[in-house]
Amino acid sequence: MPSVYIKTYGCQMNERDSEAVAAQLVAKGYSLAASEHVADVVLLNTCSVRDNAEQTALNKMTSVIGLGKKERPGQIYGFMGCMAQSRGKELIDRLPDVDLVLGTQKFHRAAEYLDELLAGKRERIVDTADEQGSEGTIKEHLLNGAAKDKAVTAFVSIMQGCNQYCTFCIVPYTRGEERSRTIPDIVAECRQLVAQGVKEITLLGQIVTSYGRRGDVWTAAGSEAPRRFQDATELHDAKAPSPLRSAGALQKSAFVQLIEAVHEIEGLERIRFTSPHPKGYGDDLVEAYARLPKLVESAHLPVQSGSDRVLKLMHRGYTRARYLEVIRKLRAARPGIGITSDIIVGFPGETEADFEETLSLCREVEFDNAYLFKYSQRKDTPAAAMPDQLPEPIIEERHARLLELINEIGKRKYETFVGRQTQILVEGPSRKNSARMSGRTRCNKIVIFDGSERHRGQLLDVKITRVGSFTLYGDPAIVGL
Ligand code: SF4
Repeated sequence: MPSVYIKTYGCQMNERDSEAVAAQLVAKGYSLAASEHVADVVLLNTCSVRDNAEQTALNKMTSVIGLGKKERPGQIYGFMGCMAQSRGKELIDRLPDVDLVLGTQKFHRAAEYLDELLAGKRERIVDTADEQGSEGTIKEHLLNGAAKDKAVTAFVSIMQGCNQYCTFCIVPYTRGEERSRTIPDIVAECRQLVAQGVKEITLLGQIVTSYGRRGDVWTAAGSEAPRRFQDATELHDAKAPSPLRSAGALQKSAFVQLIEAVHEIEGLERIRFTSPHPKGYGDDLVEAYARLPKLVESAHLPVQSGSDRVLKLMHRGYTRARYLEVIRKLRAARPGIGITSDIIVGFPGETEADFEETLSLCREVEFDNAYLFKYSQRKDTPAAAMPDQLPEPIIEERHARLLELINEIGKRKYETFVGRQTQILVEGPSRKNSARMSGRTRCNKIVIFDGSERHRGQLLDVKITRVGSFTLYGDPAIVGL
């Protein structure tokens, strides 16, 4: 059977989509190739979040085709994912040797289309149409295959798309409207993973806190009556009259119901989720952190800016005050919770005063870490057409100042772990030094220690001895066994 090489660009969703496609192909008898040089089929799973991400994939395909023509005549070439979705047939006009263009709702068709192309039944296939139910097709995993060896953690895709339309983001246009899988379907996938040895599951989606806002998430027979949640913000304010509150009782969003259902799986130790939206941290979710021990004390809250004016321009849907209130409630519910964020520097119209508000918010929150992005115009997004685009040197200078602050705060926070005993889930050998093992604390910090393969999958208490750059080191002599 043919061999396939898949190269993935972009986010964790793309990684997960590629894994599912690879698993689907393996199930059909394809083998996975280690590189494009030895593959019969080369698939690039693309990212559209920045123009240069698209250019990188285009350049890669150009060089793969150039080499393939000399070394592997008959090699099949395909684009999948976000750029495939947004550019469609244009990709074949630009690179006529490309055989397959597969949109974001069509990953599950990869095997069928490759069979047709390899059999010579069709010359080219471009499929970027919407497909009802496609959100439920990213299910297969490569747990014990070539890509992962005895995985103890797994990502489970719970929804596709986003309806937030942040003005800088292309995702709603490439991934479409929010569509959620049902709770029984997700739980069945999680159960199977746990039966195969997985201890930690990360629920995955573009905006997971909006899970189930549109539609029925309990369609399986015998489950509860369907509930619909039009807007998670309805759950936020305890004083606000809300159809979702009855007699003062806290109603649960579909997302919290999902976490509860996954929490019941015996043998599962930890639950995480990514990416959430700050406005989705309603009281029900905060309360879930206090109540559900498998939901680890770690929260990623992408703030993007500390300035209300910029947040409004970004169409983020919350204010600085509301954001800080969520942080305060989370810390009250789970003291020691690890909090990380995403921040964009140099959004169009960001003044020095706006940027100072971002700095002050970071000082106030004291993030454990934050991922900083220098704003760059992304065509086809509203922000690209906004006035007052900032010059590169200003963005660079602000980015450097913010990075210094984030590193300084992060270092201080990591240092508080030295001398403390903490529980880690051992994931496998360290990526940088395979002679050592790597685990993760509940609050999402990587811990490196001198363990061995037998520790993989174990929950261990490790004493932290020193700190590296956003990494902790444990003393092997006091690993609890
Ligand atoms: S919530 Fe996230 S995925 Fe959705 S538009 Fe905003 S940045 Fe993009």
